Amino acid sequence: DAELEDEGDDVLVARPPVVTVMGHVDHGKTRLLDAIRNADVGGGEAGGITQHIGAYQVTATHDGMHRPITFIDTPGHEAFTAMRARGAQVTDIAILVVAADDGIMPQTVEALNHAQAAGVPIVVAVNKIDKPEANPAKVRQQLTEYNLVAEEYGGDVIFVDVSARENIGITQLLDAVLLTADAGLDLRANPNKDARGVAIEANLDKGRGAVATVLIQSGTLRVGDAIVAGTAYGRVRAMLNEHGETVAEAGPSRPVQVQGLSTVPRAGDTFIVTSEDRTARQIAEKREAAERNALLAKARKRISLEDFTRALEEGKVESLNLIIKGDVSGAVEALEESLLKIDIDDSVQLRIIHRGVGAITESDVNLATIDNAIILGFNVRPDTKARERAAREGVDVRFYSVIYNALEDIENSLKGLLKPEYEEVKSGVAEIREVFRSSKFGNIAGCIVRSGTITRNAKARVIREGIVVADGLAIESLRRFKDDVTEVRTDFECGIGLGKFNDIQEGDEIETTEMIEKLRV
Ligand code: GDP
Repeated sequence: DAELEDEGDDVLVARPPVVTVMGHVDHGKTRLLDAIRNADVGGGEAGGITQHIGAYQVTATHDGMHRPITFIDTPGHEAFTAMRARGAQVTDIAILVVAADDGIMPQTVEALNHAQAAGVPIVVAVNKIDKPEANPAKVRQQLTEYNLVAEEYGGDVIFVDVSARENIGITQLLDAVLLTADAGLDLRANPNKDARGVAIEANLDKGRGAVATVLIQSGTLRVGDAIVAGTAYGRVRAMLNEHGETVAEAGPSRPVQVQGLSTVPRAGDTFIVTSEDRTARQIAEKREAAERNALLAKARKRISLEDFTRALEEGKVESLNLIIKGDVSGAVEALEESLLKIDIDDSVQLRIIHRGVGAITESDVNLATIDNAIILGFNVRPDTKARERAAREGVDVRFYSVIYNALEDIENSLKGLLKPEYEEVKSGVAEIREVFRSSKFGNIAGCIVRSGTITRNAKARVIREGIVVADGLAIESLRRFKDDVTEVRTDFECGIGLGKFNDIQEGDEIETTEMIEKLRV
């Protein structure tokens, strides 16, 4: 495997950084990519960038030296994350575009979360500074809340004021990218070996067949090489650069459009060069078989309550297997009794295969897996192992705090009725690290958000060792340090006040829920 190859310092040479532009819609990502293309100081001799090939390289001047930078020409964090989901990380640095007249918007936060989750350093481009209402200082101040602290505020993130429209600050922005690359990233690759990299985008061209833009990550790709990209394979027949010129070879961080593949690879598919055509084809065929199997396995997936209802509507006779777990035995018995009283058609069977008191455990989930059952949790939650296993196995685990709601759900399902219009969704989980006594506000839970987002207007419940000890609580105060905030995201600390409810302990979990309109399929 190439990852295991000895790539000592002597064979590694510097490669250009690969940059993705992200940010809120309309903040100027596309326009900025255009401005950067036009700023290419080396573009002159080749006649500028003429071809859209999915990525392009520009030459910037830094400390008097001409240095290339590669830009992915698909703005936004969606493509970035879709590629990551396929196991490909192509981006070295993210440019976060924030319009100075608009400030931080939801997709700004999303984009920076995605970049931070990938461990990709961010350079902030504060755009539209030509506008009279631009407030670049406010953008800097807003972003400190998200751990992006500008250098001038003592942090280590470079903020550059730009106008994509008026071509202001573009060279400074490119300079900031190179500075960021030099400061913390060791961007090197061995150009003297067979190429490997990632497909950035691909399409089927009427005349030329499958064309794919690939980004070389290491090695050098040459015309005539046998390659396999995802389930596509073939010999590189021709390569085109962003200037529309044919090239014979391409080294690390170079984007090229490749012709000669059997089919269209997907964005994020990695490619390698193989020594023979045959090997490329065999790898591609193996991958295709594996994908087919994965699809089949998915089709055989566990039943959810919705699947059951659908199967029933289609006239397929089904039995519905249930596992009931509750916080007290009285509730479990009451639920079981009421469920068994539901008046249903003879063709459908309701079987309660297991019931018990306490948190939902891994063994409950295992049982659900074997007997294809749905788990109903009444005021209880799965423990960590059970939660992971349920997610992995696709087991439907549903939570209720009112018997009537559980009953109604199951009854509707058994009658093949549509789901309720609204459903309660879990929006966040915070773990209580410390309890602060406050005479004015009652007890404050010092928390770290473990998953999702805690929002000020959500409903909260307190869970102790898998048991719901309080439910339907309002969040009376939500603070980060001394500031009241409207939301706190995963991995951030916060203080939560639950008003009159004071029975909180270190180690408890606060789970928040919101009502959302259910999507109908
Ligand atoms: P995207 O959705 O982030 O790709 O945003 P666009 O690049 O499509 O830009 C959205 C709008 O903002 C367009 O009307 C652009 O012309 C405008 N725009 C982009 N950059 C600037 C800028 O620096 N100054 C001004 N005044 N308008 C800009």
